Amino acid sequence: MANVKVAVRVRPFSARESADGGRLAVKVEDKFVRIRNMKLDGRTEGAVDSREKLLEFCFDYCYWSVDPAEPHYASQEEVFQDLGVSVLSGASEGYNVCLFAYGQTGSGKTYTMMGTPESIGLTPRICQGLFRSEDNFPDGQNSSRVEISFLEIYNERVRDLLRGGEQKKRASLRVREHPEKGPYVQDLSQHVVSDCKQAMDLLEEGIANRITAATHNHDASSRSHAIFTIQYTQAILENNLPSETVSKINLVDLAGSERADPHYCRDRLTEGSNINKSLVTLGIVISALAQNSQMSNSCQSINSVASEGDGSTVGSHSSSLSGGGGGGGRRHCFIPYRDSVLTWLLKDSLGGNSKTIMIATVSPSANSYNETLSTLRYAAHARNIVNKPRVNEDANVRLIRELREEIDRLKSMLLSFEMQRNPSPSLSDERDGNLSEIVLQNELKVEQLTKDWSESWRDKKELLEQYSVDINRDRAGFLISSLQPHLVALDGDVLSTGVVFYHLRILPLLLLLFHSVLLEKLLRKGRSHLHRTSEPI
Ligand code: ADP
Ligand code: MG
Repeated sequence: MANVKVAVRVRPFSARESADGGRLAVKVEDKFVRIRNMKLDGRTEGAVDSREKLLEFCFDYCYWSVDPAEPHYASQEEVFQDLGVSVLSGASEGYNVCLFAYGQTGSGKTYTMMGTPESIGLTPRICQGLFRSEDNFPDGQNSSRVEISFLEIYNERVRDLLRGGEQKKRASLRVREHPEKGPYVQDLSQHVVSDCKQAMDLLEEGIANRITAATHNHDASSRSHAIFTIQYTQAILENNLPSETVSKINLVDLAGSERADPHYCRDRLTEGSNINKSLVTLGIVISALAQNSQMSNSCQSINSVASEGDGSTVGSHSSSLSGGGGGGGRRHCFIPYRDSVLTWLLKDSLGGNSKTIMIATVSPSANSYNETLSTLRYAAHARNIVNKPRVNEDANVRLIRELREEIDRLKSMLLSFEMQRNPSPSLSDERDGNLSEIVLQNELKVEQLTKDWSESWRDKKELLEQYSVDINRDRAGFLISSLQPHLVALDGDVLSTGVVFYHLRILPLLLLLFHSVLLEKLLRKGRSHLHRTSEPI
């Protein structure tokens, strides 16, 4: 169980806000953010509730990034040291991790998540950190694989930001649901990277593709939600005990909410309404999850909830969550993940197997009071969500570990029997013999499984490094991911499990020739199958 961690970052005044007088409405002190409603400043104490004038919220981290000259200014590095490092440590332990930025348009989401060339943001720093942490392991003890994908959700359609070719770039992809792994994007390209430079190149390529879509609509602000996913698989063999974990790191830069302006063109209004639709759904999902988590909490400890509130010290905020009444007999709310592509894809990150961090970005200006207050309320809700992250361990490795535990248990039983030998030696000898036999068999099983696991990991890594091919065993068969041209031949014998993979690394013209000749030959023999990338055989 882990609460969603929430951070708030206040950006510098924009040129327009400074020209308007640069009135400061937000203050940050330690873990508290205070927001002042300047419109109520002239009113007497009796006329308005003093709590409406100054609202206070408490978060896990608060960053003041308004003026670099100020002593408590939070730079990109400081934000990374808290949030980025906790993403990396979660991933290295084998948990899924999600970090998403939320806020009004122009409040600094993209700056925080991606940054600028002079001051890089969380995503590139996390990529650097991932490869840096790998160097810390002594040779031979640790081996890992990093795969990257990058997508954007624009007008409720999913597009691959790393797919070569203009047509493929524009094609929208389908979101499907895997019975165990949950929602995923079909045919999304996965790129195996072996160093930080490759990862950064992919990130830059994706950002460039994203920006092209945005400038088309004459807006400097990104008009799509972008999800950069790193799949980090680690294999460690220590004292002959294997460990293999897979962690999915989702780094999300949401498009910002904005008010509809009647002067906008139709496309722009549709785009805005789609962004707002997904953000509203995200809000509903967050509220419902927070409410469910609070209800579960209240079942465990009836007294604790009322005093905690929703992180804000203002009564009205907590009451909106806990609602009226005792809550004891109420049922859990339905979570409408499917109402938008964004929430559907982030289902696990928001309410399941993930350690999740939200960074809410706000403007310091009094002009943005309403938007900032709504962002802070939203963030306060998110802080109540309790997720259930678990270490994603390989099934074979888990079996090896469990068998080893069983062996240890049996060995200690044997030892205790030996120590308290009873008067009938023949009976105890028989029992000891049986136990010793089970121990021996389990030890042989563990040895074989460990050997198989080490070999398959080594083969897989070699395949990836040499041919950029990833072969995974799936429910229906094998899943082969390769962006290179290739042929796959299956043995005609149905009992044979052999698969031959032809990796075609020659010039396209020769390749085409070779491809057709070989294919014809194989087909004539009647025992081949041409296989397209990423489809199960
Ligand atoms: P959003 O993605 O929320 O629409 P951006 O990240 O594009 O907003 O930020 C809008 C502008 O504000 C950009 O010019 C960006 O460089 C600047 N900005 C945002 N946050 C900061 C910050 N913490 N420090 C310096 N400049 C910032
Ligand atoms: Mg942006």
